[in-house]
Amino acid sequence: MKYHFFYNPYSRGFLSKKWVLEPIINRFGKENIHETLKDPQEMFRKYSKIIDNDTVVIGLGGDGTLNILVNAFVEKTDKFSLFPCGTANVIVGELGITHDIYTFLNGLENAEIIRIDAGDNNGNKFLLCTGLGIDAIAVKKVSNRLKKIFGPLAYVFSFFRAIFHERVDVKLIVDGDLFTVKSAVIQNFKNYGGSFYFDPDVSAEDGFLSLIVLEDENKNIFSNLLNIFKRKKAFIKAIHFKELYIEDINEKVFFQVDGDISNNFIRCIKVIPDAIGFVLVK
Ligand SMILES: [Mg+2]
Repeated sequence: MKYHFFYNPYSRGFLSKKWVLEPIINRFGKENIHETLKDPQEMFRKYSKIIDNDTVVIGLGGDGTLNILVNAFVEKTDKFSLFPCGTANVIVGELGITHDIYTFLNGLENAEIIRIDAGDNNGNKFLLCTGLGIDAIAVKKVSNRLKKIFGPLAYVFSFFRAIFHERVDVKLIVDGDLFTVKSAVIQNFKNYGGSFYFDPDVSAEDGFLSLIVLEDENKNIFSNLLNIFKRKKAFIKAIHFKELYIEDINEKVFFQVDGDISNNFIRCIKVIPDAIGFVLVK
C-alpha cells in the first residue's frame, strides 16, 4: 500500500496544525506530501500519475478537503483517509478518527477499512449533504456579521427570515413518489451544519441518502426547530431514498452543496453505495 498526503496550504485549520508535516515527512518522505488545488479536475491532471488502486489518499484537513480528494481521485483509487486539520470536521467526529498524529501514522497499516456511500449530483460527489429551497436561500443570505458572533446559529436566523420572506415550492420525485416542499436537506452523515441533528437514523454505511423535508402543510415548524435544538428526534419528515429528481426547476431554486452555494442546476441526486473505502484510524 502507498500513502499520499494532501493539505490545503490556505486553510486556517491546517495552518494552525502545520507541525504535523514533520512526523509524516520522517516516516513517508517529502515526496508523498502534496498541496490540494481548488479544482478537482486540475488535481486529477496534476497528480493522477502517482495514484493507482494501491494508493491510500489521505487528507490533512476536514470535510472540504476530503470532498475535493474524492472528486479528484475516485476513478483511480477507492481508498481514502483523513487526519483532522480542518475547519469543519463533521466526518472526523462521526467516524471517531484519532486527533493524535502518531496514533494515526502507527495505525494506518492495520486499520479497519469501512465502506462509505457518497451522494452524486450531476456527476459531482458529495459526502456530507446538499440542500435546496429555503435551506439553500438561508445559506446564500446568511449574515457574515452574525456568523462571526453566533456561529451556526446565524443560519437558523437566516432560515427563519427566509421562511417568512421567500415563496418557494419545489416538486421532488423521490424513488417514484411526488412531494412538494419548501425546503429540503439531503444528508449522508448525521450532523448538519456542525450543530444540528434532523434525523437520528442517518448512516453513511446503509446505501441510502436521507431527505429531510419541510412540507407545505407542516404547521409545527417552531416546535420542530425546538426539538432540533434539544437534539431530540424532530418531527420534520425524513425519507431514506436512492434516487431523487427535481421537477419544475426555475431560477428561484438555489442549491447548497456542503455549505457552498452551487451555480449548477441539479436535476437528479442519487446515492452511490459503498463509493469509497475509508481507512479508519481511531
Ligand atoms: Mg445513508
